Amino acid sequence: MTEQACRECHRIVEGVVCPTCGSSSLSKDWSGYVVIIDPKKSIVAEKLGITLPGRYALKVR
Ligand SMILES: [Zn+2]
Repeated sequence: MTEQACRECHRIVEGVVCPTCGSSSLSKDWSGYVVIIDPKKSIVAEKLGITLPGRYALKVR
């Protein structure tokens, strides 16, 4: 399965719509990979504006 990343919130999406923000603006051209387990304690999550646990791309083009 081809994984895509949401352009809005950077979440890795295995479908056609992002489950986090509801956006269908997905990109196959992404790089970097981060798993956020506890957004409240993660500096990366804070920088990316992530509030929900999950898998995210660092860069989405
Ligand atoms: Zn999203």
